[in-house]
Amino acid sequence: MRGARFLGNGRVTIEDWPQPSVGPGEVLLHVQRTALCGSDIKLWHKGASWVPGHEIFGLVDSPGHALHQQRCLVYIPVHCGQCDSCLAGDTHLCETESVLIGWNRPGGYGQALSVPEQCLLPVPDWVPDNLAPLLLDTIGTAAHGIRVAGPQVVKGPVLVMGSGPIGLGAIIALKDSGFHEIYVSDPKENRLVLAQRFGARVHPMDDDTTRFAFVLECSGAHAARNRGLKIVRPHGIVLLLGENDAPWTIEETKPIRRKDFAMMRSFYFPKSDYPKI
Ligand SMILES: [Zn+2]
Ligand SMILES: [Zn+2]
Repeated sequence: MRGARFLGNGRVTIEDWPQPSVGPGEVLLHVQRTALCGSDIKLWHKGASWVPGHEIFGLVDSPGHALHQQRCLVYIPVHCGQCDSCLAGDTHLCETESVLIGWNRPGGYGQALSVPEQCLLPVPDWVPDNLAPLLLDTIGTAAHGIRVAGPQVVKGPVLVMGSGPIGLGAIIALKDSGFHEIYVSDPKENRLVLAQRFGARVHPMDDDTTRFAFVLECSGAHAARNRGLKIVRPHGIVLLLGENDAPWTIEETKPIRRKDFAMMRSFYFPKSDYPKI
């Protein structure tokens, strides 16, 4: 089959790969769409010995299987189903499995891949192919973070920092969760235009005086994270949805030190979130 090879240093080629071997309890999936994810930039820099891609949508090809020919998304955390986290429904926090499809085993930037049955999420007919991958990280990860933080969020304005895919997903999920005062900041004008179309108001990057009850940091940029800690209101929450591999230094200035607030991190989403997504 044809598939992408990430060579590192920003180089990608399309090469021939062996047909995926389908293991026990797994099915073959013909890829229809795989969305680019901001986090792929890590493998774009580092390179990978497998086919990356983790925002995967395809058609199951497994004659006799209940989901044969079904349109499915791929839930990327492989999970044991037995540990305390899995039994509690936290399939994304499995304590014994840490394999992520596209990250530690072949993913979706090829024509096909083998997928564990437990990782198939059937897509309703009314969701178009082009939009289906957005139900994963874009909406799924953002909406899960809001659910995790939600019960503890005090009333007040919300700031989404970074209006890339996760930030835009967060704006949609915030509106759907009943938040009304939604602001967004991003250095890129074209991204702000999109965010405004989804109903967010622009908050200037240089305004550090306005305070927010709930800050969703979706960029992963250290400067944005530090700004979030500074401008969150007392009793507010800073939710870290963005990712960054580089070490992060926090300067414990007065606006950060003299305040009761919480910093939270959430990761991906449990499989049980899928109907809500
Ligand atoms: Zn992703
Ligand atoms: Zn488990």
